[in-house]
Amino acid sequence: MSYARVIVDVSAEAVDRFFTYRIPDDMTVGEGFQVRVPFGNRVIDGFVLEITDKSDVPEEKVKDIKAVSGSMPVILPELIELSRWIREKYYCNLVDALRLMIPSEMRGNRVREKIVRVARLRVDEAAARDFMASSKAKRQVECVEALLGGEFETRSMPRFASVYAPLEKKGIIVLETRSSMRTPSLLGREETAVDPTLLPAQQRAVDEISAAAVNGGGRFLLHGVTGSGKTEVYIRAIRNALDAGRTAIVLVPEIALTPQMVTWFHARFGKSAAVIHSRLGKGERYDEWRRIRSGEARVVIGARSAVFAPLENIGVIVVDEEHENSYKSDKRPCYDAIEVAWRRALTHRAALVLGSATPSISTYMRTRPTVRPENKLKLITLPERVNGRPLPEVSIVDMRAEIEMGNSSIFSYELKSGVEECLRNGHQAILFLNRRGYSPFVSCRKCGKAVKCPNCDVTMTFHMDENLLKCHYCGETEAPPKLCPSCGSAHIRYFGTGTEKLESEVKRLFDVPVTRVDQDTTSTKDAHERLINEFASGRTRIMVGTQMIAKGLDFPNVTLVGAIMADMSLNMPDYRATERTFQLLTQVAGRAGRADDPGRVVIQTYEPDHYAIQLAARQDYSAFYTREAAFRRACLYPPFTVISRILYSADDQKRAEDVAAIAQEELRSFIDERGLKDAVVLIHANTAPVKLLKGLYRQQLFVKLYSGDDSSVILGEMRRIALGAPDDVRAELEINPVNMI
Ligand code: ADP
Ligand code: ZN
Ligand code: ZN
Repeated sequence: MSYARVIVDVSAEAVDRFFTYRIPDDMTVGEGFQVRVPFGNRVIDGFVLEITDKSDVPEEKVKDIKAVSGSMPVILPELIELSRWIREKYYCNLVDALRLMIPSEMRGNRVREKIVRVARLRVDEAAARDFMASSKAKRQVECVEALLGGEFETRSMPRFASVYAPLEKKGIIVLETRSSMRTPSLLGREETAVDPTLLPAQQRAVDEISAAAVNGGGRFLLHGVTGSGKTEVYIRAIRNALDAGRTAIVLVPEIALTPQMVTWFHARFGKSAAVIHSRLGKGERYDEWRRIRSGEARVVIGARSAVFAPLENIGVIVVDEEHENSYKSDKRPCYDAIEVAWRRALTHRAALVLGSATPSISTYMRTRPTVRPENKLKLITLPERVNGRPLPEVSIVDMRAEIEMGNSSIFSYELKSGVEECLRNGHQAILFLNRRGYSPFVSCRKCGKAVKCPNCDVTMTFHMDENLLKCHYCGETEAPPKLCPSCGSAHIRYFGTGTEKLESEVKRLFDVPVTRVDQDTTSTKDAHERLINEFASGRTRIMVGTQMIAKGLDFPNVTLVGAIMADMSLNMPDYRATERTFQLLTQVAGRAGRADDPGRVVIQTYEPDHYAIQLAARQDYSAFYTREAAFRRACLYPPFTVISRILYSADDQKRAEDVAAIAQEELRSFIDERGLKDAVVLIHANTAPVKLLKGLYRQQLFVKLYSGDDSSVILGEMRRIALGAPDDVRAELEINPVNMI
């Protein structure tokens, strides 16, 4: 008798353990299979993780597996192992980790394979012609005649609908059911592009990465200035890995997963490439997954979840723009795709390649000689732009001086004349402003109060298109007030600038067609692609957008880039604010002058002397790194420490405060008892930076720890404390979160 140890597909701490089921004699089930099992009085999905010949519960209590989905395991053994690792590392339930390994469409049997019926002749041509000569059924004769030209899907010939069955009965034709693949629109193109000759620095990078890819693995940081041809390095190293029979994953940030990028990979790898991104339909995603699982697709390009692609024998894992926040999942389990990639690369003995023009401080630190071998990255540098194109000329404009000169518009004199000149020369410009909507503040001139969201402690943004105030945190909308909600005054003013206002200013000043790219203009399927094509085709002359346009795009005709309010991200209450500003400005600047015409960049700011802005203008990564690393060390910020918190939210403010205070006491006594005091930099319970969000009051237990084994023990205890929160208070554990609002 065989038994299966099953994890049921229910996300709850209480059922996060194995349940044993009997495998009926006539059923084939192995590790990694998805099954249907009786559970309580329902039948639900589960994943078989182990097979045993002994039941650990009394035989009479063991139930049979009801059904099995498919004839193959849906989760490979390696990915089962990875799920266990994720549970430990990110403090989640095993089932939450397992769910990452399959497309959500496969759970609860929500999508099925698309089945088509195909008709073909059963008899040879002579017999078919005999039939046609002798039969009086006109439709049947036509159908057989059509089939002489080759098989077809029955659905494509509806006029024969009534004759398929009788013809099959007579033994003239066969009807077969087959599963068909829904291929995303860009797929199916064959390999067409020719390989450019690599620059010497590119060639060295390809050689080094390829050697690791076929020979036991390795870990690299590919640091190349914008436009240095990193993508070409990935492609050639991957090609070498494929030639050696291995496979590859390329992770890119979701917003950089532009149609341009996808087209490049298809042009180079044809049908061997599979693409996974959020704009795919459910069926498309499922079918791409199956193409990977079956071994037909051997290169997977996708956003962070593609790190779980069910490939075997992986030779290369690339993480492009490794400094991007989007590699950290903001949904539970809050995994970091780079850490997962690191782990999978180790398992497969693959080459891990982290690529960036502006590596994160923590990543770059791993290239230092003193780093332990297991944490180390080998640095590969691409110091020059392809074809020796110069980096764009960058100027910094002090907006305070503009105001003194009497210019209070969004455009400095220099940027305005720069745009005019660019347009005169027939070129295109990109204007970057990292804030959507029309005006971010609506406030009263009399009492000074800004309109806030009723559910959140943040100001509402005015959106002109819809004539609404919107909360960017919870989505609440309101009609713009005619009178001040606080004092009743009629002097309501709109302050500040978002992309919507920038767009209308640009149209007014320069009178040219404009493309705006932000969350509001790209919410519908394919909108992103359409807007990029619109600009790429030259139908519009200026592109205005948020950070969505900062990376990945390659428009040869763009010679001017303007950063409208460069210091906006500098004043966020986050230790990474400086790093992010530097990265964003360097990336945006990299959009200019990518082809033959030299580029120019204008950075407008109120803090022209800040080192993040100065060094981004000079594109001097190493000076920035030195300065920022010293700052992190001095102030005990990550990677020297781990920052973590339990975020408590409740309807009632006092309740959240009390629970956080109790949690603090609990954690402190745990640390005292275990003698872990030396691992702690700071522990305190206080109000979260945004105190009210989506109608809930937020309180936090904030903890800063020295990195190391002791910190893991303390984090484990924090998870236990978070799980023990009372029912009326929500508790979430966050470790080095991307945003701490
Ligand atoms: P990065 O990702 O480093 O910013 P890209 O990979 O986008 O740079 O490369 C910039 C441009 O140079 C692209 O249009 C790419 O096709 C082209 N390119 C890359 N390598 C070569 C080469 N060896 N010869 C000619 N063109 C190249
Ligand atoms: Zn007022
Ligand atoms: Zn809100």
